[in-house]
Amino acid sequence: MFQGFARSYSLRMAVISAIAILFPGVSVGQQPTPHQQTLQLVDQHAAHFSATSRTIWEYAELGFQEEKSSALLQNDLKAAGFRIQASVADEPTAFVATYGQGSPVIGILGEFDALPGLSQAATPDRSPVTANAPGHGCGHNLLGSGSALAAVALKEYIERNHIAGTLRFYGAPAEEGGQGKVYMLRAGLFRDVDVMLQWHPAARNGVSNGGMLAAYSAQFVFHGVAAHAAMAPERGRSALDAVMLMGNAVEFLREHVPSNTRIHYIISNGGAAPNIVPDTASLDLMARNFSLTVLQDVWARILKISQGAAMMTGTTVEVRNLDGSANILPNDALAKVAQRNLEEVGGFTYTAEEKRFAEQLQKTLPPGGAGLLDSTTTILPLRKPDPNEPDASTDVGDVSWNVPTIGFYTATFAPGVVPHTWQAAATAGMSIGQKGMIVAARALAITGADLFSNPQLVLDAKSDFRHQLEGRTYESVIPAGQKPRLDYRKR
Ligand SMILES: [Zn+2]
Ligand SMILES: [Zn+2]
Repeated sequence: MFQGFARSYSLRMAVISAIAILFPGVSVGQQPTPHQQTLQLVDQHAAHFSATSRTIWEYAELGFQEEKSSALLQNDLKAAGFRIQASVADEPTAFVATYGQGSPVIGILGEFDALPGLSQAATPDRSPVTANAPGHGCGHNLLGSGSALAAVALKEYIERNHIAGTLRFYGAPAEEGGQGKVYMLRAGLFRDVDVMLQWHPAARNGVSNGGMLAAYSAQFVFHGVAAHAAMAPERGRSALDAVMLMGNAVEFLREHVPSNTRIHYIISNGGAAPNIVPDTASLDLMARNFSLTVLQDVWARILKISQGAAMMTGTTVEVRNLDGSANILPNDALAKVAQRNLEEVGGFTYTAEEKRFAEQLQKTLPPGGAGLLDSTTTILPLRKPDPNEPDASTDVGDVSWNVPTIGFYTATFAPGVVPHTWQAAATAGMSIGQKGMIVAARALAITGADLFSNPQLVLDAKSDFRHQLEGRTYESVIPAGQKPRLDYRKR
């Protein structure tokens, strides 16, 4: 009896220690929870996808030219057991990676395009790898790799536990101005998706429940009549005059739009020489507001201004390259779960070396610009987006008007650093960025696990989505039938 007890006891201890090795942190005698299993899987693949993020950071390919970055992520996902549909939506570098079948259909968005001129070594001082070359100043190398890390872990979790449903990773190109996702949307690639998960690199950790600005952009090209500017100015009709009048009128318009509207422009062509009345001149303009609906009205008035400027100068106006994106619709049902999950994951701490790096980097920020270094360890409380807070724009907005969407942001950049800077590109290529990326992947993966195992959560997300859309209709800023502008970087 005693011997028997001893034998079964030692056998039990062997099983327990095997569990402890497989799932550290799991208390003895308990099965690992779905979150513990999923987090363990993320950690197993974290080193691999950190390396992937570094390789994409080195490729630093601009929008619609991300051949190597897209191929690398496709290979990783294919190796993990996903089916790949490459070159979707008339976008050579867009792809969809799918695992499983049936309901629910859960999507994760990934991006991988770089920005022009932001080439930067992983150093805390300004040192381009190649002068004027592109760089990952928005951290999209981390975005694509972190989302792929979450997708691979989540796939293994649903596979091991025989959970029904479809998991998709969306390789979405050209977020920086190419609106890659809008064309994927139009191609019907998101049609059956129940919930979309996303994240973006940042300088703090939190849940992004809505926010970002709806945006319109276009080039206003004025056509006039060229003439000798001294000998026969009366024969000329100046396209540059029209551009300047349009700029002035836009300044007057500022007084009569909601004060959180942003309008910004450049003169992209001001003529050839001062002694020739310019027969062609152009103004590239963007307008933004947190509400797509408000912005539609502002944009209609900007179009009238362009016609007025043409009329005053005897020129004609042509609106080219009309482009833009919607604001992100919030989803309160998903936000609550996302917040809980990010708090469960927690932030991260710097090593002594990372701390030195961040401190040195912060010295290059404008006075008062540096944030608290230990803010990377904390999660910001859940809050509604503030319409008066400055923000950027993204084609994730268009997705969110069509699929219930929730996102995270994590501290991949040193506190105080803003995206689209060399400082952001620097940490996107080293361990600080990778640690932030892993936090995002962990939060995405466990939120995905919740959606796969809790049908009520998917229903709640859908009902909140319908509520958010009430009284509003989605209309893309981009004209119907327009093909992706694959050469949008060459204006
Ligand atoms: Zn960006
Ligand atoms: Zn970005």
